Amino acid sequence: MLAHASDLVSGPGPAGRLARALDLYEYQGKELFRRFGIPVSDGRLATSPAEAREAAQELGGGVVVKAQVLTGGRGKAGGIKLAETPAEAEARAREILGLDIRGHVVRRLWIERASEIAREYYLSVTFDRGVKRPLLMFTTKGGVDIEEVAANDPDALVRLHVDPLEGYHPWQGRRLVYAAGVSDPGEQKQIVQIVGRLVEAFTACEAMLCEINPLIVTPAGEVRALDSKFSIDDNALFRHPDLAELRDLAAADPLEALAREKGVTYVKLDGDVGVLGNGAGLTMSTVDVVTFVGGRPANFCDLGGGGDAQGVVDALEVITSDPQVRAIFFNIFGGITRCDEVARGILQALGQLTISQPIVVRLDGTNAEEGRRLLREAGAANLHTEATMLDGARRAVELAAA
Ligand code: GDP
Ligand code: MN
Repeated sequence: MLAHASDLVSGPGPAGRLARALDLYEYQGKELFRRFGIPVSDGRLATSPAEAREAAQELGGGVVVKAQVLTGGRGKAGGIKLAETPAEAEARAREILGLDIRGHVVRRLWIERASEIAREYYLSVTFDRGVKRPLLMFTTKGGVDIEEVAANDPDALVRLHVDPLEGYHPWQGRRLVYAAGVSDPGEQKQIVQIVGRLVEAFTACEAMLCEINPLIVTPAGEVRALDSKFSIDDNALFRHPDLAELRDLAAADPLEALAREKGVTYVKLDGDVGVLGNGAGLTMSTVDVVTFVGGRPANFCDLGGGGDAQGVVDALEVITSDPQVRAIFFNIFGGITRCDEVARGILQALGQLTISQPIVVRLDGTNAEEGRRLLREAGAANLHTEATMLDGARRAVELAAA
């Protein structure tokens, strides 16, 4: 599932593949916040009502029982409830576990010491791809959807870019809090410190998004992160094995898990044409062309730069495991990737897997002639070759509808 727009970014990552995000659960993000010195409440993880009761007992006093799912708006969906006693925590846990929040089934709970809230603010760091810089956003109108604030009260949302070469400077944090109208000096000081640490966490973890909504102020004037949204760049995970381990394989789409295991970049969409290309740019263009000729992509797979035979077999295995796929459009431009090698991969896949869907292949560039010859000579009934991207897309869309 393509959960957020932030899952899919415009440019190719360091490996020439699409950059994707590893989204962390709230409790994982908060653990990172704690590591970087951002104040959070004490809490415990629980996976059963009995564990929730125990956690509440240990924490003492009132707690909040929070569904851990990789989607926002849990509060509105009934996934966040206050409990005064351990018995109540157990009862709330029983209600929330198993709940389906927009397709995400709750299997973990975060039991946190309840906070008293005087005010709810919002703070985030993300990338502004337009200007190629990290972007800080802060508003005192937190707790609600930030898109709402941006649409209805744009002046309340303060935005500030960080120069990647100069790095972050504390005056930027000060400018954020002054511009947003935070007047209490104690609050200002704490928030400026949190902004600096959030930028540090964002940079050190090679994150794509670090968001605190709400960043609360307690009646005693203490500022604390009550929620966390933390997404890490997939392409940077090889440098962060400890962060890579945080991925919850059980929550992932089984096909995405298969793709990841095979090292294939795969994104699920909801049409019926499977799209396979090499390189992020060509793959995205292929998705566009399929849409342009009236089709709907079921997914897209990026073979990356290499495109060896085994890579093709793996990608076809992932694509054909998607039951929505009625035809496959295989669009290859040979540069470093050699078209004959890709053709061998396709034939190898046809030998190893039972592929019932028609496959339309367009090969161009390095060794395209040789590739097309191999496919022709194989004479497989469900293989169709086309000379151009447009014709290939048209053919695939026709076959998907047939
Ligand atoms: P989200 O709905 O998925 O964004 O989950 P949040 O963690 O942001 O919680 C949603 C809302 O629940 C917050 O904006 C708070 O108003 C409320 N909430 C969460 N934790 C507490 C708490 O400890 N005490 C109180 N009083 N309210 C809380
Ligand atoms: Mn929130």
